[in-house]
Amino acid sequence: MNKKNSRKILLLPGDGIGPEVVREVKKILEWFNKNKSLDFSFEEELIGGASIDVNKIPITDEVFYKSLESDAVILGACGGPKWDNLEFSKKPERALLKLRKELKLFANLRPAICFSQLVDSSTLKPEIVSGLDIMIVRELTGGIYFGEPRGIEPIENNQRRGINTHSYTTSEIHRIAKVAFDLAKKRKNKVTSCEKSNVMEAGVLWREEVQVLKDKEYKNVELHHMLADNCAMQLLRNPKQFDVILADNLFGDMLSDEAAMLTGSLGLLPSASLGAKDKNGKIRSLYEPVHGSAPDIAGKNLANPIATILSLSMALRYSLNLDKEADQLDAAVQKVLDEGLRTKDIISKGKKEVTTTDMGDAIISKLK
Ligand code: NAD
Repeated sequence: MNKKNSRKILLLPGDGIGPEVVREVKKILEWFNKNKSLDFSFEEELIGGASIDVNKIPITDEVFYKSLESDAVILGACGGPKWDNLEFSKKPERALLKLRKELKLFANLRPAICFSQLVDSSTLKPEIVSGLDIMIVRELTGGIYFGEPRGIEPIENNQRRGINTHSYTTSEIHRIAKVAFDLAKKRKNKVTSCEKSNVMEAGVLWREEVQVLKDKEYKNVELHHMLADNCAMQLLRNPKQFDVILADNLFGDMLSDEAAMLTGSLGLLPSASLGAKDKNGKIRSLYEPVHGSAPDIAGKNLANPIATILSLSMALRYSLNLDKEADQLDAAVQKVLDEGLRTKDIISKGKKEVTTTDMGDAIISKLK
């Protein structure tokens, strides 16, 4: 067999349901290797609580360097009650923060897609969400979560003051806006940029600089500016007006969670975090489901693997240049949902309940 596409993928299953859902991704990679003349070499390493139990730290240097050398990293989830009492700097979730920071993952991409088959899982009316397909692009390494000065300080009269600083520079804004415009070009060609330019100077700069970039480099992309609070409202009122939503770290955090919930279940939501291109033109990236380690169902073969499988599909599309295979995988997920197979989290009357393993197998059978 002519193996023309050799790609290195690092699998980090992590904790709770992480190993169960990543196992299904591994099966799909094996299928692609066997049936599509692709050559994924994948390794599996410990992260989070699983790493703490063996190595006493949430991520070892060895695993960290492997992540730097990989074409894509796919993570399950980190954390769980077993490690809840550790001090903040030693918790499993620190591994994730380290990866995001050191890989300089400044762009978080979260699609909010409402599968027509699951339209009843949303709390909104079917006609509002059916066919919904939004991409939220959130800036991930700047803004108020990282700005200095920050802290809690004593003030007069036994009072205290909490301080955080919201700041963005021109290049930070252009860098993330570029990701949004480039994505829009492959979709419906429309970006809605959100800020609070009515009350924040950093919001005024955000609005102006996004416009500057559009006028200079993306003349043919439709750009709308919207106040972030209005965007939150519009997401509930008429979400299908959006294609790509661009927002800073804080507003993006809120808007992406809100948009995610329009679609119904946590078990269906993938995400990608992308960094800058390195000197060889490779984009650093981390792909993971939006959900956590779900300790309540861990080890029971009940978890929905679709969010992690769709994270693999994003990796195929954005890091591995395999759009055709990504389309094929997305279509396989659709077909399985069409046939009425559901894991417990999305089960409804008249549908067939299946396990994590069954869901993975069914998706693979539709790839064939
Ligand atoms: P969670 O996402 O793990 O679970 C919330 C609820 O959704 C639970 O009832 C769970 O059973 C359900 N659920 C989640 N994913 C599912 C799936 N694939 N299939 C079916 N049901 C699913 O959030 P939580 O309970 O707040 O957090 C649990 C642990 O996960 C905590 O330790 C938290 O810190 C960690 N966490 C990790 C990440 C990450 O690794 N990126 C993200 C969020 C939370």
